[in-house]
Amino acid sequence: MLIIQNGYKCDYEMKLFYGFFFDKNEDISVYSNFEYKDGIINVYTEIICFGKAFFEDYYFPFDINGKSKGLIKKVFTAACTKSFCHAAGKIRKINLPWGVMCGIRPAKNVRGLLEEGFNKEEAYKFLKEVYEVSDEKLELAFKVAENEKIILSEIGRNSVGIYIGIPFCPTRCLYCSFVSSDMRISGKYMDEFTDKLVKEIEKTAEIINKMGAYVESIYIGGGTPTSLSAEQLKKIFDAVKSSFDLSRLKEYTLEAGRSDTITRKKLEEAKKGGVDRISINPQTMNDITLKKVGRAHDSEMFKDCFKIAREVGFKIINTDLIAGLPDETPEMFKYSLDEVIKLNPENITVHSMCVKRAASLRMTDTRLTEAKQMNEMLSYTQKRMAEENYIPYYMYRQKNISGNLENVGYSKEGCMSAYNISIMEEKQTIIALGGGGSTKIVMGDRIERIFNFKNPDEYIKRFDEILKKKNEILEILRKGGVYIG
Ligand code: SF4
Repeated sequence: MLIIQNGYKCDYEMKLFYGFFFDKNEDISVYSNFEYKDGIINVYTEIICFGKAFFEDYYFPFDINGKSKGLIKKVFTAACTKSFCHAAGKIRKINLPWGVMCGIRPAKNVRGLLEEGFNKEEAYKFLKEVYEVSDEKLELAFKVAENEKIILSEIGRNSVGIYIGIPFCPTRCLYCSFVSSDMRISGKYMDEFTDKLVKEIEKTAEIINKMGAYVESIYIGGGTPTSLSAEQLKKIFDAVKSSFDLSRLKEYTLEAGRSDTITRKKLEEAKKGGVDRISINPQTMNDITLKKVGRAHDSEMFKDCFKIAREVGFKIINTDLIAGLPDETPEMFKYSLDEVIKLNPENITVHSMCVKRAASLRMTDTRLTEAKQMNEMLSYTQKRMAEENYIPYYMYRQKNISGNLENVGYSKEGCMSAYNISIMEEKQTIIALGGGGSTKIVMGDRIERIFNFKNPDEYIKRFDEILKKKNEILEILRKGGVYIG
């Protein structure tokens, strides 16, 4: 792989799109020449592939007067990547529904343009022309931007979100990219982890008081928090209740996750502890796939857990599905989605399968089919969700998703999760506790991060450092000129 750019450089983006068309081990050279003159961008791209040359001479009229530096950079970058993709498209046909739009938050691009003074129609036209995004994806991005704006406008001044990471799972799923350790190995740490976590909760409450802040949302995630026993979970719920002032708490979520860890007793403890939202994630309703990816539950078990959660009194239940699981066809995914819809959950989140960089997988016919089929699954989701009155309210993309696709949270009216939007849009300080979380301290446009240890044994052994890291929050705020009461 060789990429040479003259006139304007956008290394990261060029490599990203190169990766959609070619393998880095292929003998391919890319030369790109950028020029901006008299309100016209011109990018000439030449790709030498197996001794043959492929060209694109791309022109785009763009008046930089009155535009922000950030916007100019985005348009120049898009011109380079577009010129490259047009040339590369003459070698391999790749469907890119998001065109050359980069970044993990497509809705942020929409909001950015509206903040620059574009009206909705102008923003739509601009994104279509500059990034060549499909109408279907643009429609999704605009809806998400509109819906998340409601939640963002409701974030309280001086409010914080709390994330509690429980890094245990009964077994490790084949596709897992989260912080989690197999409890058959690390289960021996669960008791001590819980006791230390209780201390961290108490310490965090002290820090929040010193900040003069209050807790607006709590999210217990992982891993699979319900890997802990009902007694261990109770200790955590009790500590949360007795340590934090929850008088202005808007939502309290427990990610129960896998049905093989859920019991009525655990859900009852959660309910008594104040949890008002729960996530039960089948990922797929096809038992054959569940087996294949290493999840020790079947679709019936998931349905039973869902029923128990309703009986215990949970009014907001989220269910996660994954599009593109190994060997799943669009029909299999559609079946899963329709089965989940029948249960009438308040939230449905559809993730796109993330494929780690594996040379053997890239650029094979399988890989390309996979991206095409995944897009079919996501289109079906968009259509079915609209039919069933679910609105898309948060969306993000990950680097290794086939076809540069997206993860989307859909919600029934009035059931959107503020935490999901806050964590994505980075407009509110989120303090992370437990294993693997990262605290994000938001000070206007600046964000500072503090990381907790990932592994339970390290968390336990180095717990003094965890407490010290909590004190750092105050130091960072003071240095950042934020008044601490
Ligand atoms: S349940 Fe989730 S966190 Fe646990 S191993 Fe599976 S994918 Fe990873």
